[in-house]
Amino acid sequence: MITLLEIAVPCPLRQTFDYIADPVIKIWQKGMRVEVPFGSRQLIGIVVNIKTAEDSDTQKLKQITRCIDVTVIIPSDLFQLTVWISDYYHHPIGDCFQTVLPKRLRLGDPADIQQESFWVFKQEQQLKLGKKQQQIIDLLKKYCHGLSQTELYNHLGPCRTSLLGLQQKSIIEQEVRFKKPYQIARSEPFQLNFEQQRVVETVSNGDKTFSPYLLDGITGSGKTEVYIELARKCIENNQQVLVLIPEIGLTSQFVQRFKQRLAATIVVLNSSVSDGERKQAWLLAQQGLADIVIGTRSAVFTPLPRLGLIIIDEEHDSSYKQQDGLRYHARNVALIRAQRASVPIIMGSATPSLESLYNVQQQRYQLLTLSQRATGAKLPKITLVDSGGPKADKALSSILYHAIDKEIKAGNQVLLFINRRGFAPVLMCHDCGWQAKCTYCDAKMIVHQRRNLLCCHHCGAMQRLIDQCPDCANTELNTYGAGTEQIEQNLQTFFPNTPVLRIDRDSTQRINAFSDLIEDINKGEARILVGTQMLAKGHDFHDVTLVGVLDADQGLFSADFRATESLAQLIVQVTGRAGRGEKAGEVIIQTSQPQHPFWKDLLKHGYRYTAKKLLQERQDLMMPPAGSLCIIRAEDKQQEIAMTLLNAMLALFNQNKHAQVMVFGPVPAIMEKRAGRYRAQLLLSSQHRKPIHQLLDRTIEQISALKLARKVRWSIDIDPIDLM
Ligand code: ADP
Ligand code: ZN
Ligand code: ZN
Repeated sequence: MITLLEIAVPCPLRQTFDYIADPVIKIWQKGMRVEVPFGSRQLIGIVVNIKTAEDSDTQKLKQITRCIDVTVIIPSDLFQLTVWISDYYHHPIGDCFQTVLPKRLRLGDPADIQQESFWVFKQEQQLKLGKKQQQIIDLLKKYCHGLSQTELYNHLGPCRTSLLGLQQKSIIEQEVRFKKPYQIARSEPFQLNFEQQRVVETVSNGDKTFSPYLLDGITGSGKTEVYIELARKCIENNQQVLVLIPEIGLTSQFVQRFKQRLAATIVVLNSSVSDGERKQAWLLAQQGLADIVIGTRSAVFTPLPRLGLIIIDEEHDSSYKQQDGLRYHARNVALIRAQRASVPIIMGSATPSLESLYNVQQQRYQLLTLSQRATGAKLPKITLVDSGGPKADKALSSILYHAIDKEIKAGNQVLLFINRRGFAPVLMCHDCGWQAKCTYCDAKMIVHQRRNLLCCHHCGAMQRLIDQCPDCANTELNTYGAGTEQIEQNLQTFFPNTPVLRIDRDSTQRINAFSDLIEDINKGEARILVGTQMLAKGHDFHDVTLVGVLDADQGLFSADFRATESLAQLIVQVTGRAGRGEKAGEVIIQTSQPQHPFWKDLLKHGYRYTAKKLLQERQDLMMPPAGSLCIIRAEDKQQEIAMTLLNAMLALFNQNKHAQVMVFGPVPAIMEKRAGRYRAQLLLSSQHRKPIHQLLDRTIEQISALKLARKVRWSIDIDPIDLM
């Protein structure tokens, strides 16, 4: 008999492959990494099954090249979760394992945790010492558990010779330990207020089973403090905590608060972490050596043998959904994880998603509320301004202008939102009507004056800014509309002595640029801040007394079914940025539709009322969360090809028909051409989740067998967050 290994290989095929095991290694386990020959390449795959076969049956099979792991790298709970993800999202298993592993491990790095040198004070000796040596001893005496060599060098500069001298005299000792960021708590916890305490007690005294909670707490109500207290209790019980945060430029404020308050090993997994650090953090968590993992979307896959609690901050945030490859939703995956690990999960937001509110309604989640700002600060006054009224310039109403002027004179900070980067969204010829359009997309080129460029925000295409019409050679080209860059420039002209700071994806490209900018803001150096949505989330700027929203309309006319929900969330989040400190705040919203019922609902009755109404609309239309959707997208360089493939899929769906699933389309995407490809989509809709999955299960093999399906790019999006 021969041992066969079934391997999930990173490739787009929806199957696993059998290989003959290496005869030397005896103990095979699911979840190990192996290198295998695949076509002309060597790939790293995951063992998903171990089988035996007769010699004669294995003639055509290849042998694995090598086994990378001595023990299992993907623990069984994570292994099972990955299998579930592959089933639920109908995504190739090999590719799912790729998403689960950090890059370095995916590429075959050994699974060893980095270690580092520590120095510990041992005993006093009556010996004459050099100045540096005395400094070392004085420092180490302060750290009774020792200090890493790196930190020691940070304090005293490189001093290897002195260290070795002291070691020889047995005054200090060197130890090798796992490299991990342990810190001691530096600040005292707050006395939680009554509401916060009730939340902490409910969650920590609940059954130690799967229990999902929605924490609905207004901005500034102290949700983060609640998370910290809950985490503290877990650590005291020797449990690990997984904290998910949205993908926003700045997470350091949030992480710093955890670090300041908890004596624990906290590892961070977000986009600013290097591949090496990511691997180290992942392995520390996997070995149970990290107490808290704080990370964005993909951190939901971190192995945690002692998991005790999952926290999802800003649970409504759309960055939890991956929009390419494996299109998972981290909140959804986290819920499954919590359920399988039988632990509580707390999802917090000032503007809960309709999904979560629906689950509360269906009594699947327990609702917890924080209704007061923790510092006692008042919520700001909100004014709606007709953007068709008197203006200070193209984009700024005079009411907003005067309000800014007043706050600046009073020495306060002002925050302005406009949801568009660049200078202007349209460049047009005054004579012939020519407009700058992207060659590769059905989209206009955005004027970026500072960089002297025209850029496409969809595909990234760029060209030099032109000053002559390419069609009629006229030199009178006009821009229409405004973006952050233009607003920044105009404000600088209006208020020449006031520092204006722009915060958008262009001004924060450099690593740390965002945290540097935030520091400037907190130091009070910038008085007027102009930014995109990036600025709306979670930041705690104490001196901001006025928030202006310049273009609140877009969401009211979008073709996307979630646009109104997102707009309501954005407005409430933005509003939460004003008046967080001692001083009261004010919000001014410019809109061309001041009469739209949306505004009355939101401003008069609040987010919960608006959300309830929107949820009712969705229920009437059988749209998510009341119904279930799946989109199949296809794209190709040639027009019509995507449609042809989707039509072939439609024929298969019709053939395998499911009474409870409706299939719509195919139709070209709203922006049909993007990045040089023509896109189309097919929509599956049902009142429940199951039927869609059943129909897909029945059909997917036939789809994969279609000739075009092997040539054309296509993808399945389960529970899509937009229909674009
Ligand atoms: P959220 O996460 O809900 O926006 P935070 O946790 O950031 O709220 O708290 C808002 C502000 O209130 C912070 O400055 C925080 O330090 C403060 N705060 C939170 N809880 C308390 C408390 N119990 N007593 C005093 N201040 C608090
Ligand atoms: Zn022209
Ligand atoms: Zn483009």
